[in-house]
Amino acid sequence: MTKSSKIPESFLIDHNEMTAPQVRKAGVQSGPAGDKVSKFDLRFVKPNVGAIPTAAIHTLEHLLATYMKTHLDGVIDISPMGCRTGFYLSIWGDVESDMIKQALIKSLGQILETRWEDVPGTTARECGNYRDHSLFSAKEYASTILEGFKES
Ligand SMILES: [Zn+2]
Repeated sequence: MTKSSKIPESFLIDHNEMTAPQVRKAGVQSGPAGDKVSKFDLRFVKPNVGAIPTAAIHTLEHLLATYMKTHLDGVIDISPMGCRTGFYLSIWGDVESDMIKQALIKSLGQILETRWEDVPGTTARECGNYRDHSLFSAKEYASTILEGFKES
């Protein structure tokens, strides 16, 4: 992706051809000081076939935001896609997708072991929609995604 490109890279890709789960390097950008930032598409559900319910993707967001940072240095952000089929991850440096995939597999494994009282940021003070969480459903998706990675 060039600096002058105004159309988000994701809109140029045929979503009907995407497979899930997969970790795809969406691009690398360079800042004025030469710093690099890599962006990844963490696709959990095949686009236009399924979508993760909001309560599940919300709890996945809280957990991945915490766990991914324990496995990777330099994570800037990990946020759910509006279509609810995956997440975007931004990280400092020119990073390879396999490193992200390994961290994701570890994080999803941790989610399966997480108790509700250990989900971070679930109070009204800490979250913008604290009632809309489902650890049960988040675990179901984590399990399905892990199975998908084993088969791929
Ligand atoms: Zn929240």
